[in-house]
Amino acid sequence: MTGGILTLNAGSSSLKFALFAAGEDRPMATGLADRIGPEGALKIKDGTGAPLPRSEGSLASHGAALHCVLDSLRAAFPGQEISAVGHRVVHGGIVHDKPVRLDAAVMAELERLAPFAPLHQPHNLAGIRAAVEAFPQAPQIACFDTAFHRSHPWVNDTFGLPRAYYDRGVRRYGFHGLSYDYIAGEIARTAPTLADGKVVVAHLGNGASLCGIRQGRSIASTMGFSALDGLPMGTRCGQLDPGVMLYLMDQEGMTPAQITDLLYTQSGLLGLSGISNDMRTLEMSEAPEAAEAIAYFTYRIQREIGAMAAAMGGIDAIVFTGGIGENSRLVRERVCATLGWMGVELEPGRNAAHARVISSDVARTTVMVIPTNEELVILRATRALLQGNERTAA
Ligand code: ADP
Repeated sequence: MTGGILTLNAGSSSLKFALFAAGEDRPMATGLADRIGPEGALKIKDGTGAPLPRSEGSLASHGAALHCVLDSLRAAFPGQEISAVGHRVVHGGIVHDKPVRLDAAVMAELERLAPFAPLHQPHNLAGIRAAVEAFPQAPQIACFDTAFHRSHPWVNDTFGLPRAYYDRGVRRYGFHGLSYDYIAGEIARTAPTLADGKVVVAHLGNGASLCGIRQGRSIASTMGFSALDGLPMGTRCGQLDPGVMLYLMDQEGMTPAQITDLLYTQSGLLGLSGISNDMRTLEMSEAPEAAEAIAYFTYRIQREIGAMAAAMGGIDAIVFTGGIGENSRLVRERVCATLGWMGVELEPGRNAAHARVISSDVARTTVMVIPTNEELVILRATRALLQGNERTAA
């Protein structure tokens, strides 16, 4: 066996990976190294979801974790070679509207973008460096969360700040692009009539955003300059009046680091409920604060779906994806409950069964559930770049 492709998604304290054999779209193995540091944990599964043993070894850093992952994969699949590595990278700036093969110049450019995503980009780059060290000869490909949104029209790309800030990169970049890219592809593959239409995709996981897609291209996204904007999330606040931040600094004397912590890790479902960032826990809780946190979450999604429909001049379909979007019938039901005015009508049995189409047969607007697959987007992009076929990689 030769020529496998490894996909890597390096987060602040995690390394998610998948290994694909040549020509296969189903992974041979997937896994997650979590809590990278002294308390690190590593879980690996084979293609059927059965657990695979992990090798001994430190998980103290991204580099150490990758070594441990590779040792485990070599033990499970002796002889399997890796011919390329595809990476998820949060920020590709204004230039990258498609995946790119990494070299020293691109790495330097991506490092310059780190201030735009200080909580994510440095970790993505640490994962790339670890992979280059492990596979110095293998092509390394970067796939950007921002790339899918580079088709935004200017009005959805800018803030109402003096123009110089836009020129310096203070823009609405949009994120979750690999997920939206996958969903756009699935719509084109399985529902071609919708592929030419206006679709709002709700990626609802720990991070959450909406994307308005018209004729396969991103028109608008609820996430903007950072992954904080738009919808409330597990621990992130979502849309916030900038005056709140001025107040926190001026009147409550909070430092940028304290505000960063508040907005990224203490807010959203966790902050509102005081119980958990996990939707399953909140759905099971009897506490009124849990119900209110879910109510705020679904209310903001409803509002933003309305805004997306306005931005696109109508709406033909809504697609739910991500851990919550794919699994929470309650959230889908609540979100759709007030959208009858735009032709949304759920069929409760289909929603309960997490069917692909969950709207009724007479509904004007189709509502779908499509499980996302960001790894497959990285895999395909990596393959396409290896074959010198960059255009289809986007
Ligand atoms: P990430 O953004 O970290 O990739 P996921 O897409 O895995 O996160 O989504 C995690 C969220 O999905 C959590 O809030 C979790 O509670 C929620 N979730 C997963 N399964 C269910 C379920 N059966 N019902 C409700 N929520 C669920």
